[in-house]
Amino acid sequence: MDRVLKDTFRLYPNTDVLYDVELFEKCIVFEPCAKNNACGGSDRSATLRNQVSLDEVIGCHVMKVAEEVTSLKHSVSYFCIYAYHLVQKRKNAGPRRQKRTYVFEVDKEVSYEGNLAVSRLWQSALLWLLRGVKLQRTTGGGAVIPQELPAQRHYLVIVNPKSGPGRSLEIFLHRVRPILAEADISHLLLVTERQNHAKEFIKSLNLKQWSGILVISGDGLLFEVYNGLMERPDWEQAVKIPIGIIPGGSGNGLARSISHTANEPYVSDPIVAATLGVAKGRISPLDLMLVETPKGALYSFLTVGWGIMADIDIESERLRAIGEIRFTLWAFWRVFNLRTYQGRISYLPATVPPKNGVPPSTASAAPKNPAPQTSNSSASNDRRPASVPANNGGLHRSQSAPEGYANLNQSQEELADGDNVLPAELEVVADSSMTRAPEPTVAETPLAPPDGFPSLDDPVPDDWTVEEGRFIIIYSSLQSHLGTNLFFAPEARLDDGVAWLLMIRGDATRLQLLTYFKAQEEGHHVDLPYVRLIPVRAFRLEAFANSTVTVDGELVRTKVLQARVLPSLGRILTI
Ligand code: ADP
Ligand code: MG
Repeated sequence: MDRVLKDTFRLYPNTDVLYDVELFEKCIVFEPCAKNNACGGSDRSATLRNQVSLDEVIGCHVMKVAEEVTSLKHSVSYFCIYAYHLVQKRKNAGPRRQKRTYVFEVDKEVSYEGNLAVSRLWQSALLWLLRGVKLQRTTGGGAVIPQELPAQRHYLVIVNPKSGPGRSLEIFLHRVRPILAEADISHLLLVTERQNHAKEFIKSLNLKQWSGILVISGDGLLFEVYNGLMERPDWEQAVKIPIGIIPGGSGNGLARSISHTANEPYVSDPIVAATLGVAKGRISPLDLMLVETPKGALYSFLTVGWGIMADIDIESERLRAIGEIRFTLWAFWRVFNLRTYQGRISYLPATVPPKNGVPPSTASAAPKNPAPQTSNSSASNDRRPASVPANNGGLHRSQSAPEGYANLNQSQEELADGDNVLPAELEVVADSSMTRAPEPTVAETPLAPPDGFPSLDDPVPDDWTVEEGRFIIIYSSLQSHLGTNLFFAPEARLDDGVAWLLMIRGDATRLQLLTYFKAQEEGHHVDLPYVRLIPVRAFRLEAFANSTVTVDGELVRTKVLQARVLPSLGRILTI
């Protein structure tokens, strides 16, 4: 029996029914108790049994009656849980998340303090279970519930106000921040003022004070974050900081890939899908890639591209304001004005990873010397304290969770379901009076020793495959999706240890290319005879003429590069 707590409460505001409430390790169950007839409960309610999976719960707050309210007893305490249920709204639509709050009324003791203690006990048990902690048991089998709450999480939130259609800040304030408040996550907000602002900030940041970094933007801002982390002298620890990404840009490949891997509905509400992952705070390893160019090293978490798709990446940036559709429109334009690209691609094939989640044994490459020597690493070496940036640097500290909660109420207008909104006559009791457990320490996985990969100047090793000639596409991705409807590498997983290298030779026709782009929406392009998708551990690209090269959708001025997978180097927040 994995029961943790059991008691009887009423559910506010429909307090005519008394419920038996049981908390288990994986769910909370409440059903009208047998005594209900005596309590005046209706027969219909007697058939109601509710089971809420803790997988769908993101937080728990303790509440009390607001000072000025006279119609309710002030000795009563409340605890509420925030759940996001998977519901099937319409028959033909997929499932989507719907928020529901459950407010339990604790009115057993005469004093408020007595009732508060009961609420706190349930809150502590719930929060520890949500963190995935297995509670200890007494010899009698009862669960031991810690007096202190788990450590509060503090996130550095970075918003690019210019990403995509320019709505990232609004998305953060109105959609993301309320959910962070429910999950008891405090934050410091950095709104970037220019390109590379985030990168410079990350390089001089004291990372110890943060549980994670949350990026609200397209993939371009995360590219800055990872490169900032890898340019730090302590990159080995820095790169392990958990990263969350909320899709706010016009290219949101990683956010889409994370939801895909977690089997979380995305298209119906990408912001909720991504934010719930951050709120839950589950951490997954993430493959990164070292991209060497003659000018220095770069780090990538998503794509390295050349040919028509790199051109589309960059040329369509003028259409950033229309969002992801920019890629589709520009693909038509580029196919109409089709070009071919002369060059050489050399790659080290990887064993196809099995689908059962076991990483491929061959994909164990680790950075040889990942300490980067980039051309722009001469940028600021001074270690400015994070909390005192020059002229405020676009920083805003979060309010405490309860105040953050007040904002939450205002931003729920668009949610029609009355169950979503907390009653105005109750207010959240700050958790600041509670002691907190220390932040858990993370065991570092040491990097494997150098593995003898060739450097950019060395000849290509014999076990690599070399192809030369005219191409239309040479594009690689570490992840499954390049965007919402760009299902590039159907078998890719966050940490499969391989890059998926797609090639289309220069003799493909316009119709074949249009067919490819259309088929890619569903991932069916892999069946087309003129498309090859090869899992690789490393590759070298040599363009014979000046042409566009992109890394994570950002322009890189080089004709030559060598890329190799750094398996599981990063860590990403996922639901
Ligand atoms: P999108 O998906 O729309 O391309 P990104 O997040 O990828 O959005 O950002 C696009 C570019 O904007 C990136 O190169 C990033 O470095 C840059 N950038 C970040 N902050 C700012 C800012 N405040 N003003 C202008 N550009 C910025
Ligand atoms: Mg971008």
